[in-house]
Order: sequence, then C-alpha cells, then structure tokens
Amino acid sequence: MVFFIKSKGTHLPDHRGHKELTQDKPPFLFLNPEDVYIPLIEQGTPCEVKVKVGDKVKVGQVIAERTDRFAIPIHASVSGEVVSVNQRMWHASGRMVPCIHIKNDFQETKAETIKPNKTDGLSRAEIIDIVRACGVVGLGGSGFPAYVKYKTDLPIDVVIINAVECEPYITADYAQMQKHLDEMLRGAEYIRRATDANRIVIAVKAYRKSLIEKIILRAGDKVSIYPVKDVYPAGWEKYLVQRITGKNYKGLPAEAGAVVNNSGTAIAVCHAVEDNMPLVEKTVTITGTGVKDPQNVYTKIGAKVSDIIAALGGYAEELGDAYFIAGGPMTGVALKFDALVINRCLSSVVVMPKVIRELNPECLGCGKCNDVCPVFLAPIQIKEALENDDLDLLKSYKPELCMECGLCSYICPSRIELTSNVARAKKKVLGSR
Ligand code: SF4
Ligand code: SF4
Repeated sequence: MVFFIKSKGTHLPDHRGHKELTQDKPPFLFLNPEDVYIPLIEQGTPCEVKVKVGDKVKVGQVIAERTDRFAIPIHASVSGEVVSVNQRMWHASGRMVPCIHIKNDFQETKAETIKPNKTDGLSRAEIIDIVRACGVVGLGGSGFPAYVKYKTDLPIDVVIINAVECEPYITADYAQMQKHLDEMLRGAEYIRRATDANRIVIAVKAYRKSLIEKIILRAGDKVSIYPVKDVYPAGWEKYLVQRITGKNYKGLPAEAGAVVNNSGTAIAVCHAVEDNMPLVEKTVTITGTGVKDPQNVYTKIGAKVSDIIAALGGYAEELGDAYFIAGGPMTGVALKFDALVINRCLSSVVVMPKVIRELNPECLGCGKCNDVCPVFLAPIQIKEALENDDLDLLKSYKPELCMECGLCSYICPSRIELTSNVARAKKKVLGSR
C-alpha cells in the first residue's frame, strides 16, 4: 500500500532565514592553514591510524581508516609532517576527539594516486570503489559513506540530488552550485551509473529561479527538477522520497527505489571519479551576527574554525560572550569554543551572542510545539512522559518518528529544550524494542 506521512513546515522569518548574509558573496579561500587536525572519528566510530609521528605525508594520502562495516579511508588534506596522532580537538559532535595533527609544508605535494580516470569505460563496481577509496561521505551533515548507498541489491529507479539546503543561515551548497554546477550534474550522472538508476531528479527551493534556469540550460532533459516551497524542513529526506517516488520506506530510501545525495556530495563524487581526488577540501558557511564578515569559505578538512574567523576579520565588535553552532541553528550542536576543526560533513558554523536561558522554564500551554512539528508529534507531552519515566505513555506518543529538525525548540516562547528530550525519548523507545 502506498501512503504518505503528512507533513508541514514553517517559513522561517527574516529574509529567508538569514541566508542573505552570505549567499551572494564569492567563496573566501582558506586553503593554506599552517596546521590541520584530521578527526579520527567518523559518525561516532573511532578510526585506525595509518601514520606515525614524524612521517611526511602528501595531499590525498591515506592516513587513517574507518574499519567497521562502513569502512572508508581518511586522507591528508595538506602535505607536510605528522606532528601528533592523538591530539584532542573540539569536534562538531560537541566532544573533544583525537585528531592527526599535520604541519603544512605549503608544497601542496599530491599523492601519486591522484590522476585522471577514463570515465567512459568505468563499470558500476569500479565507480563504487573509486567513491569509497576517495573517502566521499554524505556532505549534507550525515557523514554516511556514499558508496554504501550505491552498493544496494535493491532496484533503484531514481537518484535524488538534494539541493534544498533548508536550514536557516546555510548557503554552502548554493555557493558551490553557483561555481561547480557542471561538476554537480556530472557527479549526479556518475551516481546514476553507480546505482543503475533510470533517472535523476534535483530537488531545489522554487524561489531559486536563476539556479533552476541554469540547471535546465546545462542539463536539458537529462534531469528533472523537483521545486519545493520555502519552508523548513522541506529538504527532509523522507519527505522528498515520498513526494518524488510516491513510496514510503522504513529504513533506507533504497526500499522506495531511491538514492538521495546532497548536491555537494555529487560534486565530490565528480572529483573522485574523474581525477581520483579524495575529499580533502570543502565549502563551509561561517556566519551569524557574531562574525564581522560572514562568508562561504572554501577550506581544508582539519582547518581550525578560529583560524578561519581570524582570516575573515574576526568577531563582530561588542559581541561579548559568544556561542558557536556547528552544523546549523536548527539541527546543529552548540559549542562554547572556537577551537573547533572542520570535519568532512560540517556544513556551517553560526556564531551568535550568548543567550541566557532560564533554568526551569515554564510551559505556557500555547501548543505551538505541537502545531509546528512536521510529523505531528506532541513534543512537550513526550518530554513530560520521559521525565515521569512512563514508558507505555511514551510509546503511545511515537517519539521514534522524530527527525530531530529542531523546530519545536525554535518555536517555543519559553525556550524549553524540547528537541534533545524528544531525541532521548526516541532512543529510549527504540532501545526497548
Ligand atoms: S524535533 Fe522532532 S518533535 Fe521537534 S518538531 Fe522536529 S520532528 Fe517534531
Ligand atoms: S511551545 Fe513551549 S510553551 Fe508552548 S506548549 Fe510547547 S513547550 Fe509549552
């Protein structure tokens, strides 16, 4: 039976979610950091180190590897010398994680493996292997190894390129598409070949009219466009798959005959397939009222956010105490420090003046959190059932459907932290099965 999860969304006020701070500026290049710190954690999984202190490394050389069932290599983003293999640095997960510290020699010496491929003759299996060897992961924030999606035994009808970028403030994908649209389209075609899919659909906000025109001009009828409204969370994977395929799924989009990749991932796939170029550089939106000059920054994986902000001219005057949101204001993680490093799937860092929250804010019973939830949950009731440790009641509220979009916390006039409580409830219910 085909059925749709009903869904809604919220128009985030003020100039389409503050995207005007960065979206029309050309990318700022920060490609020569003195030091990089490559995180040794991928999706919470520790990675095996392949180098030792004192080793000389080249750009694109494998220096570590995730070795579980989603095995994928990690590469040096600069050439230089390994200074430490266990330096703990702040990470987008909100924790300090071990990193490989490389001192840049500024020679940009590339690994011998980086060389052009003859793309015409590449088989499905060869494309999948190149994408794995180049360490391409989902750049929309998931960090899930891209090749794993392509390796499925399920028949795939459609590759969906998610170019919606619905979180406020973030414009990294939009900036990349402006500059690398042809690579994105070629990357989408390689993903189609890697999945044996029949068609490619690009999901993009309807108001991005000039981008849509450019895509149609360059790709003709090779792709179709799925325009979405300017609401949050219009880029939710489940929503896009349901709307485009007419099918629902429980685990992965492949069950509905779809593979979904972010537009930045398609560009990374293009660089991998055409040049064996590992994922060592990326675009990150550095923004918020706390930085003097918000920009999309094209930088090395492992660069320090504090170094990038200094290169952008520093913090806004009279900022006072600040906090940093790694990954976007709705779904990101708040951090107190700017010594955070860029990892492979970090899309943005938002710098904001510190907000003092009440310790035990009171619910006003306004119902806004219920009204706004895209999957029709009752966040405050879930929070209360969690606090009362009432598992049966908790199960009846179905917190496992929560997509952790952050809207309930965003909308709450009492600033009650609802999202993290619903996420905890979700874990509890799933763990009890
Ligand atoms: S975080 Fe979860 S509960 Fe809150 S609005 Fe989003 S989906 Fe609903
Ligand atoms: S939005 Fe906040 S104040 Fe309103 S009902 Fe939900 S928790 Fe209570």
